[in-house]
Amino acid sequence: MNPIDTLSQIGREVSECAQCELHFSRKNAVPGEGPADAEIVFIGEGPGFHENEQGRPFVGAAGKYLEELLAKIGMTREQVFITNVVKCRPPGNRDPKPEEVEICVNCYLERQLQAINPKVIVTLGRYSMGYFVPNVKIGDVHGQSFWVRGKLVIPMYHPAAVLHQGSLKPILEKDFSSLPELIGKAASVPESPETNPPYQQEHPKQLSLF
Ligand code: URA
Repeated sequence: MNPIDTLSQIGREVSECAQCELHFSRKNAVPGEGPADAEIVFIGEGPGFHENEQGRPFVGAAGKYLEELLAKIGMTREQVFITNVVKCRPPGNRDPKPEEVEICVNCYLERQLQAINPKVIVTLGRYSMGYFVPNVKIGDVHGQSFWVRGKLVIPMYHPAAVLHQGSLKPILEKDFSSLPELIGKAASVPESPETNPPYQQEHPKQLSLF
């Protein structure tokens, strides 16, 4: 199946999913959206109120801010794929449970990433970071890049966290400003290094991976 059809198929499965308890309280599941050949995938935590209403990712205040951040680097949300680790809203915006993350990532996110095959994955917040780069603190690693199974993964603060804590704004904006260069560099590496084992931190100043 081609990537466009694969993503549509995953979207249909997500909209009918009953694999975890989040399906009981959701209004709309939120599979994610964007081009099937996106170079960059943004992965948030899970749908909030507005996303649950509309069935689309990042359409509330955090989404507006994400669009502003993209505009500052000359990009639009239509150019990138945007999704979440869990596709249904945790009731009352509670944190997703580990078993919910595990089921949803294995059933859907992994397949989405396989279909899109992006050059770069930006994780927004702790939950998506923890899946790709476990056992680190976001304050220590935001804006750094990690090769994870052949993809350049860049953890960043969640836009919603930045809206609540204004002091993080210059940090997220600086991390975003390095994205175009990192996308270019990831694209110029013919064989993306596999991380083996477990996760290889890339120190731009010290290593010559690029
Ligand atoms: N926060 C997220 O993590 N994801 C969304 O889709 C919206 C807000």
